[in-house]
Amino acid sequence: MQHFPIFVALAGRRVVLSGGGEAALAKLRLLMKTEAHLTVFAPEPAAEIETWEREGKLRLMRRAMEPGDATCAVLFYAADEDAAEDARTVALARADGALANIVDNLADSQFITPAIVDRDPVTVAIGTEGAAPVLARAIKRDLEERLPSGLGALARIGKAFRRFAEALPHGRPRRDFWADYYFKEGPRAFDAEGAEGAQAALDGLLEQHLNAAEKPGHVHFVGAGPGDPELLTLKARRALDEADVVIFDRLVAPEILELCRREAQMVDVGKEAFGPSTAQEDINRQIVEHGRAGAQVVRLKSGDPTVFGRLDEELDAVTEAGLAYTIVPGVTAASASVAAIGQSLTKRGRNASVKLLTGHDMKGFADHDWKTMARPGEVAAIYMGKKAARFIQGRLLMHGADPETPVTVIENASRPDQRVLAARLSTLATDLSEAEMAGPALTLFGLAPRAAEAAAQELIKEAL
Ligand code: SAH
Repeated sequence: MQHFPIFVALAGRRVVLSGGGEAALAKLRLLMKTEAHLTVFAPEPAAEIETWEREGKLRLMRRAMEPGDATCAVLFYAADEDAAEDARTVALARADGALANIVDNLADSQFITPAIVDRDPVTVAIGTEGAAPVLARAIKRDLEERLPSGLGALARIGKAFRRFAEALPHGRPRRDFWADYYFKEGPRAFDAEGAEGAQAALDGLLEQHLNAAEKPGHVHFVGAGPGDPELLTLKARRALDEADVVIFDRLVAPEILELCRREAQMVDVGKEAFGPSTAQEDINRQIVEHGRAGAQVVRLKSGDPTVFGRLDEELDAVTEAGLAYTIVPGVTAASASVAAIGQSLTKRGRNASVKLLTGHDMKGFADHDWKTMARPGEVAAIYMGKKAARFIQGRLLMHGADPETPVTVIENASRPDQRVLAARLSTLATDLSEAEMAGPALTLFGLAPRAAEAAAQELIKEAL
């Protein structure tokens, strides 16, 4: 982000503009929506500017700018549409300490003016840093259609009511009240009876919420999926939108954390496979504490919460504390990984069952039924299998698995930096260490990427 969006307080402050043509008119129309004191320098101003001066909307100086003319100005616009004159006026304004913008000259401007959707006091600013003005206009059009024209009025009425709403306890009760006003009662009442209706709706709602019983805490165990935010379920999205507290693991993608409610308290209990981590008891304790305090807690786990996520221990803690909970399933890494290589986890005539197994457990490398797995056609999705690769390889070979069995490792499945390593059982450990995978990786035993598999079959046919 090269430009940081902020809203500048302009009420009663000075804004200076140099120019009297089309560019000046366009900027002045925007600036006149504010409560700034506008001064325009223009030797030959357009007729509209003279009218605005007569109406008292701005001060007009019928001359070119001189040193000191931008004293105390917060913002300055160079709108003479003449490169040399713009450079001259900007230098003067900057010497006076104003932040300067040259119309249609991004590179030499200290700030830029976004596309604006105006539902005062609700203002949406859209910027593309000059990369795609067409896109900014399209987004503006879209929002203009979507945001009801009464939204500004609703917000103004709501703003005046804020001090009364303070009668409600801080946090969720107050948020629920405002959500009811802005998304349910407010628009309905405003459409039917205008401002007076909206005002009456506020009074009624406050009464209702003051008498409402306090909402108890709730814990949502939510699957964040493998990383791609588009793989979140709608239920997961809603839980993130409504969360008071989000307790998340290391593997949850930053793009997904971005989707959590802005005001939510974010608690990182990141578990590094072999490194430092928050103890499970500590995680359980935090979930319970926040739930007991009445919060909507989201326990956000990568993939599906029921797969290698120590969910049961957390569920036990939550039920023991008498808290209500919901489990929101997610797309597990195995599903995202087979999708990435164009394969299916089960296949008629090849494997009627599939194993999800972990490379290591609390005691170290995990033992499994290697003999069954070693049979031809078996498919297994191995989680946390990178460090255990040599161990798994050894066990399977020892139990008679074909060294040529395809094994595919998918790193960062569904993420932009996804990588696929196609190996054989005999080369798995060496191939993996050469690939230096630092991200989360899932090992698919018994499956090759579809394209590689087709090519191999072609070779066999040729050899025959
Ligand atoms: N509950 C999670 C698994 C947690 S265990 C799920 O259902 O996916 C953590 C392991 O999951 C990692 O070591 C890795 O093997 C796997 N994993 C998680 N996200 C992954 C991703 N985007 N790509 C590949 N493997 C992933």
